[in-house]
Amino acid sequence: MTGYREAVVDLGAVTANVAHLRSVIGTAHTMAVVKANGYGHGAAPVARAALAGGADWLGVADIEEALELRSAGIRAPILAWLHDPDADWAGAIAADIDLGLSSARQLQQVADAAESLGRTASVQIKLETGLSRNGVHESEWAPVLTLAAELERAGRLRVRGIFSHLSNASPADDTEAIARFDRGLALAAAAGLSPELTHLAASAAALRLPAARYAMVRLGISIYGLSPFDDATSAELGLVPAMTLRGRVAAVRHVAAGAGVSYDYTWRAPVDSSLALVPLGYADGVPRQASGCARVSIAGRPHPVVGRIAMDQFVVSVGEDLVRVGDEVVLFGDPAAGVPSADEWAHAAGTINYDIVTRIGRRVPRSYR
Ligand code: PLP
Repeated sequence: MTGYREAVVDLGAVTANVAHLRSVIGTAHTMAVVKANGYGHGAAPVARAALAGGADWLGVADIEEALELRSAGIRAPILAWLHDPDADWAGAIAADIDLGLSSARQLQQVADAAESLGRTASVQIKLETGLSRNGVHESEWAPVLTLAAELERAGRLRVRGIFSHLSNASPADDTEAIARFDRGLALAAAAGLSPELTHLAASAAALRLPAARYAMVRLGISIYGLSPFDDATSAELGLVPAMTLRGRVAAVRHVAAGAGVSYDYTWRAPVDSSLALVPLGYADGVPRQASGCARVSIAGRPHPVVGRIAMDQFVVSVGEDLVRVGDEVVLFGDPAAGVPSADEWAHAAGTINYDIVTRIGRRVPRSYR
């Protein structure tokens, strides 16, 4: 470890997670979702590791993220599905990025951009099946699919896929969304479309709802080795958490019983105490909401975070342990290594593991092994 804060990403774990998920899920195609800088892990390195594990598609939210992967030299198929009204359609088409589209307006814009480039754009139509977010609303399915078929016949577009996204609210809600998606696929066939890629499931449904698997699954959180479920750990799913967030003790203080710690004195030392200062804070993505609830591991032993987590630092009560400046502090990593998990931090902060890893800030260098 060179600096005093670092997110270490085990790319071998990502590769192994993807290979394991493929063997369990068994769909023809696997998309690794690497949006939001690969859920905080680093988009391009994670993308390469996932492709090495057998993923054959990459998924991102927007065109900028897709172009970043292309700039990093990644040539695998990429789908981007969430767009600005003035998205760089031409840039995406020129870079062979599949566009996930949610409206007639977008279809027309992409067709026009393709025509001006003299190319055929590859698109995947997103149907809204119950999340009330983007995707073509059910009342618009017939006209939008008919327009897509016309533009395909005119050679402007190739409709390579039709997809949707689940709420994961309950198995019953997801089953209803599957039925809705099937109705959309039937309408697409009736309009004359024959998409090679149909896809609906993200990690949770891919793992627990075989009926949602279709031709491809889009796997995000699980490739990073984290569980999408409250009732199953990474290890129970055969996954290895890829990210370890660590720092080093910057100072050790001995305080008398009654001493207040950090802003607002939300914690006072109940007895004479040794405190370790860790130079990571909410500016680095350490959730302030976990103040007083989370644990870290110092020199292999667990200790509680006490007082408010501040912008750049927090305090750990180390009890009787002999802790020295420079000792390694692990905030979270693979619990199999005896350190707290991202799930534990999520629980302490009242959030989800997705949020814990994705929020790690730019000030924290990523290193890869
Ligand atoms: N597909 C879409 C459209 C998404 O927005 C996401 C992430 O939010 C995923 C797939 C991956 O989801 P998960 O991380 O739960 O596997």
